Amino acid sequence: MPTRVEKSDAEWKEVLTPEQYQVCRRKGTEPAFSGKYAFTKDPGVYVCACCGNPLFDSDTKYDSGSGWPSFYQPISPDAVTTAEDRSLWMTRTEVLCAACDAHLGHVFDDGPEPTGLRYCMNSVALELKPR
Ligand code: FE
Repeated sequence: MPTRVEKSDAEWKEVLTPEQYQVCRRKGTEPAFSGKYAFTKDPGVYVCACCGNPLFDSDTKYDSGSGWPSFYQPISPDAVTTAEDRSLWMTRTEVLCAACDAHLGHVFDDGPEPTGLRYCMNSVALELKPR
C-alpha cells in the first residue's frame, strides 16, 4: 500500500490550485474536453496531483471520447480505492487516491479489453511524469 498522506482541509487549500482543490478535495468535476490531459498520448506515469502517488501508466490510457483522460486500469491494484457515490441522482463508483484520498474521478464498466473498465479521471487531479 502507498504511504498515507494526511493534511487538513486548510492545508490542502493552501497547496493546491483552486481547480485542484475543488475537484480533489470537494469532489468536483472539470468540464469535459477542458483538461490538459484529455488528448495526451505522451508516455509516462500519471501521479496524484495532491501527493505524487503513482496512479496510471500512459500505456493504459485510451481515447474514450468522453473528454476526460481515460484509463483501463490503475498502475497497481492498491494505487486507488473506490467508494459508492450516490450524488446527482445516480449511483456511480468514485475513484480516490489510496494515499491521500483525493477524488480522482469515477470508474465505469464500459471500458475496453482487457479489463472492460473505464477509469474516467479529471486532468487537474493528475500530473504526468514523462518517460
Ligand atoms: Fe494522492
